[in-house]
Amino acid sequence: MSSSVLSAGETRLHQTLALFSKIDLLGGVMPLNKLNHLSRLLGRDIYIKRDDLTPLAAGGNKLRKLEFLMADALEKGAKTIVTAGAIQSNHVRQTAAVAAMYGLKCVALLENPIGSQETNFLNNGNKLLSDLFGAQCVMCDALTDPDAQMQTLIDEMQLKDACIIPVGGSNLLGSLGYVQCALEIAQQQPEGVEFGAIIVASGSAGTHAGLSIGLQLVMPQTPVIGVTVSRTYADQAPKVIKLQNELAPLFAIETPAPVILWDDYFAPEYGMPNAGGLEAIELLARCEGILLDPVYTGKAMAGLIDQVRRNPQDTSPLLFIHTGGATGLFAYQEVSAPIK
Ligand SMILES: *Cc1c(COP(=O)(O)O)cnc(C)c1O
Repeated sequence: MSSSVLSAGETRLHQTLALFSKIDLLGGVMPLNKLNHLSRLLGRDIYIKRDDLTPLAAGGNKLRKLEFLMADALEKGAKTIVTAGAIQSNHVRQTAAVAAMYGLKCVALLENPIGSQETNFLNNGNKLLSDLFGAQCVMCDALTDPDAQMQTLIDEMQLKDACIIPVGGSNLLGSLGYVQCALEIAQQQPEGVEFGAIIVASGSAGTHAGLSIGLQLVMPQTPVIGVTVSRTYADQAPKVIKLQNELAPLFAIETPAPVILWDDYFAPEYGMPNAGGLEAIELLARCEGILLDPVYTGKAMAGLIDQVRRNPQDTSPLLFIHTGGATGLFAYQEVSAPIK
């Protein structure tokens, strides 16, 4: 990165990020490739950013957030990391692994958002890995007010030097990981290619908000489109906007870019697979040898495919952010059911 020439926006972004403590968990830049077979199939150039390949604990987007969140926790002298999520949380899996790496205890407050009693959902996939990384998992009925519930847990368990990492790692610090990712993307955009849009799953919103703020500085002509995995536009947009508004002043942005969301692809609800998502998983597996997941990236890719088919007049190349999650495949019966 040091040898390439940075634009003014890239320099500002780089300098601001350097003000925050960060531990290097990625060890380098994640690949950005063209999906040749899928592009031919859809008649449109589709590129992919491989954040599913981040090096720790089977990969995923949470590692970028944890570079900043864990640096902060370590600086505060944390001995225990407390976080929360669904039983099949990718965030909990990756947080548990990083905690293990630094010799910290990890306590995870978990909910069962779909009320499934399937053995694999309760025990396999991310849950198996979180247990393996040594997280102490505590079940609750529902994460209605996760930060307060985690604080109560800290008091009840009398945890000393505990640091809370919020659901999905989505606060200001965590979102910085995706501001950083925008800088990577700007430097990886192939010569002669200008992405028409960048598509990403939008959940706890830190990934979406961080990318949006970063891109506003380094690729201002390129919109980021969030595909919601749990909420309609009315409920999701405020979450993205809140984080954008926290990040914007750090980067001297006066007005954050408008939030664009596709919210037609998450039904019936968060954590519940749907037909479009399962088809996208199978398609990417068979035409690219790439694993998507039933909760986030399958649904996001289903949105991309549907929008490409509906808008044949649009020809600009698209970039899909692969945020990981394939370990969740092993938790869902539905994934194997339709496979012939
Ligand atoms: C957490 C997660 C997302 C969503 O990222 P947010 O920052 O929570 O919006 C997308 N994909 C996968 C695989 C995830 O684990």
